[in-house]
Amino acid sequence: LEDIKAVDTEIADAISAEFDRQNSHIELIASENWVSHAVMSAMGSVLTNKYAEGYPAHRYYGGCDCVDVVEELARERAKELFGCEYVNVQPHSGAQANMAVQFAVLKPGDTIMGMNLDHGGHLTHGSPVNFSGTYFHVVPYGVNDEGFIDYDKVMEIAMECKPKMIIAGASAYARTIDFKKFREIADACGALLMVDMAHIAGLVAAGLHPSPIPYAHIVTTTTHKTLRGPRGGMILCKDKEIADKYKLNKAIFPGIQGGPLMHVIAAKAVCFKEALQPEFKVYQKNIVDNAQALCKGLMDRGIKIVSGGTDNHLMLVDLTNFGLTGKEVEKLLDSVNITANKNTIPNDPQSPFVTSGVRLGTPAVTSRGLNTEDMDKVAEAIAIMIKNGESGAEQAKAIVKELTDKYPLK
Ligand code: PLP
Repeated sequence: LEDIKAVDTEIADAISAEFDRQNSHIELIASENWVSHAVMSAMGSVLTNKYAEGYPAHRYYGGCDCVDVVEELARERAKELFGCEYVNVQPHSGAQANMAVQFAVLKPGDTIMGMNLDHGGHLTHGSPVNFSGTYFHVVPYGVNDEGFIDYDKVMEIAMECKPKMIIAGASAYARTIDFKKFREIADACGALLMVDMAHIAGLVAAGLHPSPIPYAHIVTTTTHKTLRGPRGGMILCKDKEIADKYKLNKAIFPGIQGGPLMHVIAAKAVCFKEALQPEFKVYQKNIVDNAQALCKGLMDRGIKIVSGGTDNHLMLVDLTNFGLTGKEVEKLLDSVNITANKNTIPNDPQSPFVTSGVRLGTPAVTSRGLNTEDMDKVAEAIAIMIKNGESGAEQAKAIVKELTDKYPLK
């Protein structure tokens, strides 16, 4: 931070305070992680200085030899990691990857199906407050009363509305998604299948969640969640033919973006190299084991989990039995240095700003080194707060401190 301090103490202080916050808190936001120093260094490199509109060997600026190497390496590693023929590593974010695909495939007014935001879908899958819900006619699908995707119902809706595109994938769905079934539904109604694997990309890379690559026409992802890379997005296709047919490269640039963030693309390449190592599989397995341990710890203490468990890195806590809202519990947990986010649960009686649930995920705590025994302690701290409110704060804080002291961030 010395360089920043020399010119801007306010920002240096804010960064330093954020490090202390992350170090002193148990991070359970399912979409966050703790990247390696190598990923962080690539992001803070001289590549931020370079303009490189276009693609390797076809740029609109001179001096792109070195960044061409970077982008090629990122593409080739991603192809190897996910087993596909086409990759675009330029999307600045997951939302931009999704926007580019919709821009490439759809015309305004086309019908799309995506998972309802309240049931775990993402804003870019057709929410009315997002471009996707504004430019397209959206017919949402959701989960059944037990919290599982009802594929028969999805088929019924699809056959009735005949969408041009079906989007599978979610931000708050704790169960394995059956991409083969989604493809059968898409084929039956003549739709293109786009899978947004943002949350589970790390699990997919490690073979711990079935891959969407063989089934989806187009896959999008973020690189910063379970995959543990820099903030960013990516588009992938099993067959290059599909990418050519829909001109996916053109949809990103010049379609919806200008110059690529070459420092971030370098960090993506580093992340993919890390994800190709055997240790990454162990890390992903630990994420899932930790999620299951946290889930069991909560359920053993009488706390209800939507769908009764988890198959991946996250879970949704249903607070209705305790008469508490997600907003209240998010605040209670924050007061004892546990960071989580309020989240709607299926058929939530509360508004999205209040909600009846909280979403908990284990990628960041697993990066930090916490194991299944530690997760039981985290469950204990959460249960204390849900059951006792503010009067449990001292006890819960002591548990958090023991864990954060045991696993300091470096
Ligand atoms: N897709 C899914 C499933 C997500 O959960 C998210 C973010 O949480 C995104 C896309 C958007 O990613 P970004 O925040 O990088 O735009």
